[in-house]
Amino acid sequence: MESYITRIRSIEKITHDVLRIQLERPAGYTFIPGQATEVAINKDGWREERRPFTFTSLPQEDYLEFTIKTYPAHHGVTNELLALRKDDELILHEVWGAISYKGEGVFIAGGAGITPFLSIFRYLHAENKIGNNRLIFANKTSADIIQKEELEKMLGNNFINILSDENFGTYAHGLITEQFLNKNIPEPKGKFYVCGPPAMMDAIQQILTKIGVSEESVVVEL
Ligand SMILES: Cc1cc2nc3c(=O)[nH]c(=O)nc-3n(C[C@H](O)[C@H](O)[C@H](O)COP(=O)(O)OP(=O)(O)OC[C@H]3O[C@@H](n4cnc5c(N)ncnc54)[C@H](O)[C@@H]3O)c2cc1C
Repeated sequence: MESYITRIRSIEKITHDVLRIQLERPAGYTFIPGQATEVAINKDGWREERRPFTFTSLPQEDYLEFTIKTYPAHHGVTNELLALRKDDELILHEVWGAISYKGEGVFIAGGAGITPFLSIFRYLHAENKIGNNRLIFANKTSADIIQKEELEKMLGNNFINILSDENFGTYAHGLITEQFLNKNIPEPKGKFYVCGPPAMMDAIQQILTKIGVSEESVVVEL
């Protein structure tokens, strides 16, 4: 299988535990907003440790970007990424992923599950096609919200936050429930895009089934 060694152009923290990494883009390497690849670090002991990450840049840009939540306690790849600097190298693999834009709807993201949607919203914004798409973004605290200002700017009133562990301003507090979704989804219902930790995915899919959303209307990573 083909792999591509590429150099880091910039690496910085954008929240207390999330990195934004921009990379040189290998010639001919392309993707659709929402897609991902497996990434490894080009360093002894780490080349075979591949982890999936989603592109958050736009396909037409001359660089690639990842937005990566780090887990130092796992002593895995994301912890190792914290030590990387400009000009260090990553190894990318083939592009894959089932999430892509299939029409207006409600995007439901938990934590780092925002990444495929970030790419899609950036694409729609650049094309002036953001329309009435709506984002429900669930996080533990306000400090965990990835790209908050940018999402506010792109989505305006269609950016709805819910925090499980903090009372913050006008944001909802708690977990996403059937009642919360019923209150926050417009009629007629369009597509539903869901991405987050497995437990959240299960819970949301159960609620969507209960409120009569058909399987074909739900876009998730398989
Ligand atoms: C299609 C897809 C796209 C993704 N895109 C993104 C993205 O764009 N951004 C993003 O941030 N994430 C994304 N993820 C999630 C991301 O792949 C994982 O967060 C990443 O693989 C974690 O790698 P890691 O090596 O740091 O930790 P892990 O691989 O989770 O852990 C390494 C080792 O640590 C141990 N470990 C596991 N869990 C724990 C624990 N709770 N406590 C202590 N030790 C533990 C285990 O021994 C494990 O083998 C995506 C996932 C998928 C499937």
